[in-house]
Amino acid sequence: MPRFDVLTLFDAYFAPLRSHGIGRRAFDSGALQLHCWSPRDHADDAHRSVDDRPYGGGPGMVMLAAPLERALAAAQADRRRAGLADAPVVLFSPAGRALRQADVERWAASSGAVLVCGRYEGVDQRFIDRHVDEECSVGDYVLSGGEIAALTLLDAVARLLPGVLGSEQSAQQDSFSDGLLDCPHYTRPPLDAHGDAVPAVLLGGDHARIARWRRDRMLQLTLRRRPELIAAARAAGRLSRRDEAALAADGEIPYT
Ligand code: SAM
Repeated sequence: MPRFDVLTLFDAYFAPLRSHGIGRRAFDSGALQLHCWSPRDHADDAHRSVDDRPYGGGPGMVMLAAPLERALAAAQADRRRAGLADAPVVLFSPAGRALRQADVERWAASSGAVLVCGRYEGVDQRFIDRHVDEECSVGDYVLSGGEIAALTLLDAVARLLPGVLGSEQSAQQDSFSDGLLDCPHYTRPPLDAHGDAVPAVLLGGDHARIARWRRDRMLQLTLRRRPELIAAARAAGRLSRRDEAALAADGEIPYT
């Protein structure tokens, strides 16, 4: 079961994850462990400073390396006391590698990580050079801090942990689990007040046909929106001849 240690100035961000929905199930069942460590508790001056002005001038502040370093040491020592090895250190940063479902699967199967949440203009580069094993971005935009990025990772991990989702299958059918986007979903009524009907194949109870319809929709949606994912699935040999026929049809598909 993974344990994540989060270095953050704002641990209140993480309370909702523990108390709602899937995240709560992951914590209550013990499938996921989370410990927050504040660099402020490891500051060494009367003001408990955790940031200072950037050398070279310019706006904003930079997170001091020393309090982060001491918080990291405290987290790793606590892991060792719990019988765990030192964890890899992940820094959230717009300059990091984009978070992918494959990374989420890797973290869900691991013993966890130390997640470092930057604030202000970021973290003193010397801390990064000495301690960070990987940098992780959640997209090409700038958040005010790494906490929401860390929550993104933790939420995505929580739903992959054993026993957390209601149905073990539901994560397997989700987008990206086999490299494709998910198919459309429908629920009652079969014909709504706007005259829009649920596709007849979903009402028929023929499970093989339904599975084929879903697969075809996944393929076609992925081709339209994320053609590079289709190219990757093809290169990895994950597309059958029937899949290729569905992609070529791109519209009317023979379901039998
Ligand atoms: N000066 C930085 C830059 O331009 O790249 C932005 C710093 S941002 C205001 C403060 C912190 O938020 C960062 O140190 C990082 O931890 C986090 N952050 C912001 N955007 C992020 C993103 N897209 N992915 C991951 N973390 C992000």
